[in-house]
Amino acid sequence: MARPSAPVVPANGIDATATSEAPGGGDARVEVCDICGITIAEKHRHLLHLVERRIECACESCWNVRSGDPEYRPTGNRTLWLPDLQVPDDLWAGFQIPIGLAFFMDSTVTACVVALYPSPGGATESELHFESWNRMRELNPVLVGLEPDIEGLVVNRLSDPPAYAIAPIDTCYALTGAIKMNWEGISGGPGVQEAVTRFFAELEREAVPA
Ligand SMILES: [Zn+2]
Ligand SMILES: [Zn+2]
Repeated sequence: MARPSAPVVPANGIDATATSEAPGGGDARVEVCDICGITIAEKHRHLLHLVERRIECACESCWNVRSGDPEYRPTGNRTLWLPDLQVPDDLWAGFQIPIGLAFFMDSTVTACVVALYPSPGGATESELHFESWNRMRELNPVLVGLEPDIEGLVVNRLSDPPAYAIAPIDTCYALTGAIKMNWEGISGGPGVQEAVTRFFAELEREAVPA
């Protein structure tokens, strides 16, 4: 039941490079607050639009004023590196994710846990069976604390050993954005591999051990 999930990546693609250096270290990219339109620093906060599941870049004052609104949530602020996460192959296979790269989030809007995985068109979404996520939580009690909507579990099973982390939801979407941006040809090409490696190296640097 995979379906394209259009509105989840920032339309302007700004966050695709939020966690990596711009090629050549240039600062050609101008970041603006999606709410009031003023120019903001490259490092800035984000608000999640709950119903539309859209990540919005926010200046400090919009973040302060709007983060209490019912339709907005401040994105999560912790990054937990989870080297001991247990994900048996049969459990992973049951998720039916076509590649070894995805993030999971508990969505209050769809009332279930969804997996989003990158594709050339952006993030593709599929709903998980309740039992399989339950087994994940039984094996890994840390996942019981995964904050709905604003945090995700990021998974990279293309690497050896696999990498797992709980990260703010805007960071999770940055992964799918970076992949969309670097995708070439049918299989993605070396640019995608580099983007993924860079993303997880940065994530591990920012993370605290669980
Ligand atoms: Zn603003
Ligand atoms: Zn942003």
